[in-house]
Amino acid sequence: MSDTVKFLLDESRIPKTWYNIAADLPEPLAPPLHPGTKQPIGPDDLAPLFPMELIGQEVSAERDIEIPEPVREVYRQWRPSPLFRARRLETALNTPAKIYYKYEGVSPAGSHKPNTAVAQAFYNKEAGVKRLSTETGAGQWGSSLAFAGALFDLEVEVFMVRVSYDQKPYRRALMETYGARCIPSPSGETNAGRVALEAKPDHLGSLGLAISEAVEVAAQRDDTKYALGSVLNHVLLHQTVVGQEAIAQLEMADDYPDVIVGCTGGGSNFAGIVFPFLGAQLRGGQKVRIVAVEPAACPSLTRGKYAYDFGDTGHLTPLVKMHTLGSTFIPPGFHAGGLRYHGMAPLVSHIKELGLIEAKAYHQTKCFEAGVQFARTEGILPAPEANHAVRGAIDEAIRCREEGKSETILFNLCGHGHFDMQAYMDYFGGKLQDLDYDEADLAMALAGLPTEAAA
Ligand SMILES: *Cc1c(COP(=O)(O)O)cnc(C)c1O
Repeated sequence: MSDTVKFLLDESRIPKTWYNIAADLPEPLAPPLHPGTKQPIGPDDLAPLFPMELIGQEVSAERDIEIPEPVREVYRQWRPSPLFRARRLETALNTPAKIYYKYEGVSPAGSHKPNTAVAQAFYNKEAGVKRLSTETGAGQWGSSLAFAGALFDLEVEVFMVRVSYDQKPYRRALMETYGARCIPSPSGETNAGRVALEAKPDHLGSLGLAISEAVEVAAQRDDTKYALGSVLNHVLLHQTVVGQEAIAQLEMADDYPDVIVGCTGGGSNFAGIVFPFLGAQLRGGQKVRIVAVEPAACPSLTRGKYAYDFGDTGHLTPLVKMHTLGSTFIPPGFHAGGLRYHGMAPLVSHIKELGLIEAKAYHQTKCFEAGVQFARTEGILPAPEANHAVRGAIDEAIRCREEGKSETILFNLCGHGHFDMQAYMDYFGGKLQDLDYDEADLAMALAGLPTEAAA
């Protein structure tokens, strides 16, 4: 009984609807505000950036939102994704806990991100859009949107955070293989980029800045819309296929989680696995402990302030209420590039404030140590971002051993790390630094929050 066990659903069990947690929240989300007037925005304010169908999903209170058949058709290539019981890891940890993981690395881009990229490309195509602009940190989102753009015949332009552009040439090559154009950010192609380069010619870039560049391009051109890979309500919505499938798979295993663990950058893979379980709890079902794990070098949920802030450095986006490190905060260049965003999804921030989830922060070497143990027992090499979830799950299993509890732990293995081997080599070479965010920089970025909107 020491083998990994796989739970597979047949294709007919791909969810037919996405789950919208807004329908079950005990208190509604604070509304997004216009960056100029600081008044709540309406759908028309977002129309230059997104097609109406996605704006509708962003503000919807409907519980179940139908997944269009052409999107399910594409999902069919890798969904339902497998759920594994990590028996060999359990044995190695000598824990009485049961550990399950949902594996999203089976998608063509190697992470959970195509779940929303495909949906977003579909709705843009339907709305007659020709071109999508976006940003990418580590390159997973850029390659996911590039893949989706290729399927729906859309041009894709990706502003890639400079530090990742230099560190991860293979992700760039993948985007280009799918037919996208990849530009290092800050770039000379936008006003936001030029201002940043003037201030600091060797700027490492940040997600907040790359978002400004991509938004600027979309706002200026009628044939171009913007696509975001995390944070927004509709993105989190599309990811809920993950948790819905996990519920059905755990039913096959005759089990239900006591604890769910996910890593959080902008919050989308975490929301994807967590929201369907949390929704069941909010409707009177079984209570689940939920743990969000983030990097100590970019600790928005554990150390950020819950306040209205801009989504980008250039202050072009609406103000949203979220846990933030300040939109001008530039996190240090650690290896889980997908987790280097200054803010957290408003929905994830909201449920944290409501006390429905816990959050903890880990340094990267402890996460790589967990990822290596996982690879050596389960065989799958996790993405550096996913290592945070692996660390969190292993620590829960160790706690169960110490307390003598046979709890059921579920975590989201949101992507593989095949494009991140340099990070693993740096770890083995003892070159990874455990960075903390700089107190002084953080205080400065937080001082710049748009406080007049705090009401
Ligand atoms: C993008 C990415 C993340 C971070 O984004 P979330 O929206 O927080 O999920 C985490 N893991 C992987 C593998 C990613 O590609």
